[in-house]
Amino acid sequence: MVKETAYYDILQVTPSASSEEIKRAYRKLALKYHPDKNPSEGERFKLISQAYEVLSDPKKRDIHDQGGEQAIKEGGLGGSNFSSPMDIFDMFFGGGGRMNRERRGKNVVHQLSVSLEDLYNGVTRKLALQKNVICEKCKGYGGKKGAIEKCPMCKGRGMQVLVQQIGPGMVQQIQTMCSECKGQGERINPKDRCDKCNGCKVVREKKIIEVHIDKGKNT
Ligand SMILES: [Zn+2]
Ligand SMILES: [Zn+2]
Repeated sequence: MVKETAYYDILQVTPSASSEEIKRAYRKLALKYHPDKNPSEGERFKLISQAYEVLSDPKKRDIHDQGGEQAIKEGGLGGSNFSSPMDIFDMFFGGGGRMNRERRGKNVVHQLSVSLEDLYNGVTRKLALQKNVICEKCKGYGGKKGAIEKCPMCKGRGMQVLVQQIGPGMVQQIQTMCSECKGQGERINPKDRCDKCNGCKVVREKKIIEVHIDKGKNT
């Protein structure tokens, strides 16, 4: 029996999953929640990599299975000692090369409507792009340094278990991502939250780029 299943739950595998299954699960989820594809799921992407980092290493997995997340933390991993999610991603897909490049070079397509006349005469248009950037005010901490506390809702697991009665004498357990900490297991006390990003660590930034359309050739 494993002590905690949170990491397995994040990767959507059972505690008896083989290392092959864990790899497959990570590949699927990492691609799905990669920030390029899903900018709002950065935290989830991070959790997926952390879970993978632990479970893909037989030694760490052993430590985790016997002592849970606490043991992993005491073993030196945890908190900021995890590798960056991007490093894990690159390491995993690095050998694949092609897929990596394809994903990175993915173009962002924006539609810009121009009239025939504009095309003919040439025009400069402004295009507003939005992206998530680390909040400047709190430097990505989401609040005052040291204001991070273990999430009281899920006791740091990042998951909440709901027990639902589905019939007489029958209940089912549903695990969901903790809504208070968004699966992080830790949160910033509301009174210490950064007022610029509201504890989100990132803010949406608008960038204006100019698009030049050259004057069309006369035929
Ligand atoms: Zn929580
Ligand atoms: Zn902030």
